[in-house]
Amino acid sequence: MHNVLNTQSITEDDIDWLALREEHVPRGIVTAHTLVVTKAKGSEVWGDDGRRYLDFVGGIGVLNVGHNHPEVVKAVQRQLENVSHACFQVVAYPPYIELAKRLNKVVGKGEHYKSVLFTSGAEAVENAIKIARSFTDRSGVIVFDGAFHGRTLLGCALTGMSQPYKQNFGPFPGDIYRIPYPNAFHGITPEDSLNALDKLFATQTLPDRVAAIMIEPVQGDGGFLPAPKAFMQALRDLTHKHGILLICDEVQTGFGRTGKMFGFQHSNITPDLITVAKSLGGGLPISGVVGKAEIMDSPTPGGLGGTYGGNALACAAALAVLDVLENERLLERSVKLGQQLEARLRQLAEKYACIGEVRGVGFMQAVEIVDYDTGKPDAALTEKILHCACDAGLLLIKCGLYRNTIRFLAPLVTTDAQLEEAMHIFDIALARGTGRLD
Ligand code: PMP
Repeated sequence: MHNVLNTQSITEDDIDWLALREEHVPRGIVTAHTLVVTKAKGSEVWGDDGRRYLDFVGGIGVLNVGHNHPEVVKAVQRQLENVSHACFQVVAYPPYIELAKRLNKVVGKGEHYKSVLFTSGAEAVENAIKIARSFTDRSGVIVFDGAFHGRTLLGCALTGMSQPYKQNFGPFPGDIYRIPYPNAFHGITPEDSLNALDKLFATQTLPDRVAAIMIEPVQGDGGFLPAPKAFMQALRDLTHKHGILLICDEVQTGFGRTGKMFGFQHSNITPDLITVAKSLGGGLPISGVVGKAEIMDSPTPGGLGGTYGGNALACAAALAVLDVLENERLLERSVKLGQQLEARLRQLAEKYACIGEVRGVGFMQAVEIVDYDTGKPDAALTEKILHCACDAGLLLIKCGLYRNTIRFLAPLVTTDAQLEEAMHIFDIALARGTGRLD
C-alpha cells in the first residue's frame, strides 16, 4: 500500500487515504470521522468519494466566514504575488502592521492597544502568560476545570482535562492553579467557583503571587458553557483589586461566533489581554495576543516572536476576514442563526429525552447527551449519534468534561436552507443513535 502514491497508473480516486493515514500518521492524533475531504466551499465539504457533507464543525471553529471565502482567496492570492513570508523579526511588512492596527481597534475601543501575532492558539496562550508574568513580575496562573488552552506543554498544563491531553506528557510547568467553572447543569454555581478561589488564596498561593486568571468567556472544549455575566464581573473586580491580569482566551469564541465580535463583550468587562486565533485566519494559521499597550510592551525586545508568527499570507487572509465579517454583517447573522438553531434544538430536546440540556451563545450552541433512564452523561450514545449524523451527511464533533456534548460550530455564512437540512439530519441521527428508527 505504501507504494501507491508512486504508481503512475493509479489515479487519485483509487488511493486508500485512510490506510495510508494509518501507516504514516501516529495514533496520538485521532480523526473524529472516517472521512477524507478533498473539496470545500462555504458550509459544505466533499469526501473523496464525491459525497457532500454539511460541515457544522468548520475546522473546529476556524471557518466563521466559511470555507474558501472568495474575498479571503483573493486577498491571499494578491499577497502571494508580493510577499509570502518575510519574518517580522527580520523586516516589517504592511499586512502585519495593518492587522495589528485593526485588531487593536476592534478590541481597544478608544484606548491604546497593541497586538503581537503568532501561528496557533496555543502559542497565543503561551505568549499571553509570558506577557502577564513579565508585566506583573509574578508567576502564578489560575485556570478552570474543563478549560482547553492548547496542546503545547504549557497549553496542556493550563488545560483542565487530563485524558487524553496530558497522559504521559508530564512533568508540566508549575505554579498553575485550578478552580471550577460555573456549570448550572452539573450543579456548579458561580458562588462555588468564587469560594474555590478564596480557598485557593487561603491555602495554596497568595493573590499577590498570581500574574493572571485565564478564562474562556464561553468554555469551548469543556462543553460550550457560557460564563454568567455576574461571574465575569466578579472576576474583573477581584483581579483589579489584587493587581492580577484577566486574560480572556477568545480562540474559539472570537470573531462573531457568539453574536458579538468577542465573547467577553457579553458581560461588559474589559480584559487586560485577549488571545485570538482560529476564525481570524479564515483557514490560514494565525493567532495573536491583544492588550493594553503598557502591558504588551513589558517583555524585553526580542522576547516575543516566532519564524512564522503573523505570516504575510495569513495576515492578508485575516484582514479579508475582518472585512467580510463587517461587510456581510455576520455578527447579526450569528445572532439570528443562533436563535434558529437553539429553537430547533429545543424542539428536538422535547422529542428526545437523551438531550439533557441545550445551551450556548449566538451561533455557538451545543446539546448535552444523557442516558434516557439515569439522566447521567452518556459518552457512548454521543459517539453513536455523531457517527449516524456523519453517515447521513452532517459533520459534528463532541466536547465536554464527560465527552457527551455535541457542539455546533457551523460557518456564519450558513444559509437557512442548510441549517434546516442539518436539523433534519440531526433528527435522523438522534433517532438512529437512540435506536428509535432503522
Ligand atoms: N484556546 C482555546 C479556547 C481553544 O479552543 C483552542 C483550540 N481548540 C486553543 C486555545 C488552542 O488552539 P490551537 O489548536 O490553534 O493551538
